[in-house]
Formats: sequence, C-alpha cells, structure tokens
Amino acid sequence: MTGPAIEAIGVARTYAMDGVSVTALRGVTLTIGHGEHVAIVGPSGSGKSTLMHLLGGLDQPSEGALRIGGRDVAGLTAAEMAHLRNATIGFVFQAFHLLARTSALDNVALPLVYRGLGARERRAKAAAMLAKVGLGHRMDHKPNQMSGGEQQRVAIARALVTEPAVLLADEPTGNLDSATGAAVLELLERLNLDDGVAVVLVTHDREVAARARRQITMRDGVVVSDSAAPKAARPDDPPVSRAAGDPPPAPDRGIPHQRTSGPGEHPGDDGGEAGR
Ligand code: ADP
Ligand code: MG
Repeated sequence: MTGPAIEAIGVARTYAMDGVSVTALRGVTLTIGHGEHVAIVGPSGSGKSTLMHLLGGLDQPSEGALRIGGRDVAGLTAAEMAHLRNATIGFVFQAFHLLARTSALDNVALPLVYRGLGARERRAKAAAMLAKVGLGHRMDHKPNQMSGGEQQRVAIARALVTEPAVLLADEPTGNLDSATGAAVLELLERLNLDDGVAVVLVTHDREVAARARRQITMRDGVVVSDSAAPKAARPDDPPVSRAAGDPPPAPDRGIPHQRTSGPGEHPGDDGGEAGR
C-alpha cells in the first residue's frame, strides 16, 4: 500500500453541550504509517479519546482534514464512513464492548457480515483469529463466562478479523489487572510485528508507552511531543538554521547535522525525554 494509513491535518474538534462549547482538540497534525507502533500518552481530558475517535472515523473533525486509507472523510455519508472503517480500522476499547448474549465466535464473526461473506466462511475466519489470540478453546463461551483478559482478547480478534491496516486501542488494559494487561499488550506487540498491522495505543503507563516505537504526548487538546517528528528531517536535508544564501558547511566540520555543542555533550544523545 502506498501513502500513510491515516493522516490528520490541523484537526480540531469542539463539542457543543447545553449551549457550552468544549474544545477537545485544537489543531492536531499527525500521520500514522503502515506497520507503525505508536503510543499516545497524556493526562485525563487532554483529548486522547477524541483523537482516537477521529483517527478511526467514528467522528468527524470540526476543522481540518482527515484522510483514512487515503480517503478524505469530509462529505462522506454515514454509510460510506462505516464502509471505510470496516475496511481500514479495528477498534479496541477499555470496556471490551462485546455482545453479551453472543458467543466469542459470533462476536468475532460479526464485522464480516458487512463483507458479504457466507456464514461458514465468517465462522472459519473468526475461529482462526480466535486461535491466533490464544482462545481456540473458548469459541463457544459467552462474555460472562470469560475473564476480563479473555474478553479483551476476543475484542482484539474482532478488531482484526477484517484485516485492517490500523488497530486503534484506547486504554485496552484499563479494566485489567497488571499481569493480564501485560499479556494483552504482548499480544498487540506480536500482532504488530508478525502481521504488520499498525497499532496505536492510548495508555497511562509510561513503561508501556516506552515499548512502542513512537510516542506522542498530548496536553490540552494538542500534541506537545511526537518522537517521530525529529526523524522527519532527512540527513541530506539542509540545516534549518542556515539562511538560503549561506554557503554550505565546510566538509571538515564533521557530521553535518551535529548541533554546535559544548565538550560535555554526547554525540549520540538524541535529546529524547525517555532517553531510550
Ligand atoms: P482523554 O481521552 O484524554 O481523557 P477526551 O478526548 O475524552 O480526553 O476528552 C477531552 C475533552 O473533551 C474533555 O474536556 C472532555 O470532557 C471533553 N469531551 C469528550 N467527549 C465529549 C463529549 N461527547 N461531549 C462533550 N465533551 C466531551
Ligand atoms: Mg480517554
């Protein structure tokens, strides 16, 4: 696939409630590439869930542009949005959101109904996905017959059965104890590495966030840091500080991108706050 999986450009979202407007996002620009593993952190109320809803096409921005799977969502009907979502995005929420009176197998098979597959094929794909998340022995169980960790793995299987480009997980371990949560996170990591599905994970846990390849920090509805941002500059790009008419740096000054530094600075230090 070419181009990014999701692209948000200057996206804002304002909620109107009882005549009062709350601005949850105020101009977020970011790109989620295929196969990425991204953690989004930030205090409660900073707009993480609002951003996830937008990235997943569950909601439309009040301002800015949003492209999912290369398609601008502006002007899409609800049905077109649903189709785009079903083709591109898998969602995992804190609260599982499984159908209570429905078996694990049928919960996972449900998104395939919109694909026009026959019942037999839907069930076969759902069974394979459940086996992949380690629940081959729980296919006929209903959610209330499963532990929280098992329910979340069913939800992950349901999110992935359509083979989406991106899995969006909003605090997926928030309702789980730490050992169960760790197993769920390991599963997400494995699916990212093995199947190449991009994983975007909202978490409160700094350690969990540090395991992702990219970290985005939000505050008051904006992205205050994005570890992918510095890498956007290529080594052969001209230094930003150099005026257009200036001569290029002399070759004997060493690595072109090295900042002017005091004797104590480590050349390899990338300045990242987590230091890893
Ligand atoms: P986070 O997930 O980081 O905790 P949210 O995106 O849920 O943050 O919320 C960001 C802000 O938007 C908060 O001030 C919240 O109260 C407000 N908000 C979120 N959803 C709604 C909604 N549906 N209606 C009104 N305000 C909302
Ligand atoms: Mg939230």
